[in-house]
Amino acid sequence: MDFKGQVAIVTGGGRGIGRAIAGGFAKRGVNLVIADIDSDMAVKTASYLSASGIKAVGMKLDVSNPEEVKKVFSEIKMEFNRIDILINNAGITRDGLMIRMKDEDWDSVIAINLKGVFLCLREAIKDMSQRRYGRIINVSSVAAFMGNPGQANYSASKAGIVGLTKTAAKEYASRGITVNAVAPGFIKTAMTDVLPENVKEEMRKLIPLGRFGTVEDVSNAVIFLASPESGYITGQVIHVNGGMYM
Ligand code: NAP
Repeated sequence: MDFKGQVAIVTGGGRGIGRAIAGGFAKRGVNLVIADIDSDMAVKTASYLSASGIKAVGMKLDVSNPEEVKKVFSEIKMEFNRIDILINNAGITRDGLMIRMKDEDWDSVIAINLKGVFLCLREAIKDMSQRRYGRIINVSSVAAFMGNPGQANYSASKAGIVGLTKTAAKEYASRGITVNAVAPGFIKTAMTDVLPENVKEEMRKLIPLGRFGTVEDVSNAVIFLASPESGYITGQVIHVNGGMYM
């Protein structure tokens, strides 16, 4: 895969799946913006990855804040003069059964997981359209396809990402921009570490490949979709779930 000279933005890239995706790009010589609500983590991850000889910058970004998204994307344009790849990875959970779910838990999950994807995508597309090239990958979830008790807000946000992905793919195909999604299953990160052991065990039984995914399992699929070689694939979802949903 030839990424020579390219620039990628990874939202929520400070840790977890985002950090692994950024690591995969760094190994392949892609220059990086690590954009995370936790600015210390963004800067630390960027400085760690820049040791591999690429240019990597950590920036504070709350993807749900429209003014901040505009400001950060214009700073990225000034700093790098191009945006080739956008990975919309930032996401949160605020779980609870529907009947007890607080409005603010619904709103914050939709604001970060779904509106945040729209806001970043809109900014990136402005630059990509002019240059007639772009790769956008949105991180959805198996919960979008199977549903998950306690995750009404989360599964709705992740299903929304799929519709958004397909619409953006159709709107910008003529500009050389592909827009795809990955839908991870159960991946070992801080987000899933907090689940009780019995819930994890029940989950494991649903996975034909018999193990939880690693952050690299997700990153490998994302890197492929982000590569120039995936240019005839758009509006698709790659499921990275060990066969949990097929
Ligand atoms: P994670 O370890 O919690 O990492 C998420 C990162 O996003 C964190 O660095 C977090 O910062 C950051 N973030 C949170 N809110 C943000 C905002 N408003 N703006 C910018 N950054 C923000 O989660 P993960 O497990 O790596 O998940 C990454 C993505 O994969 C998410 O979209 C998640 O929904 C999706 N996913 C994960 C799994 C799984 O099993 N882990 C499965 C399916 C899909 P803080 O640390 O400060 O919160």
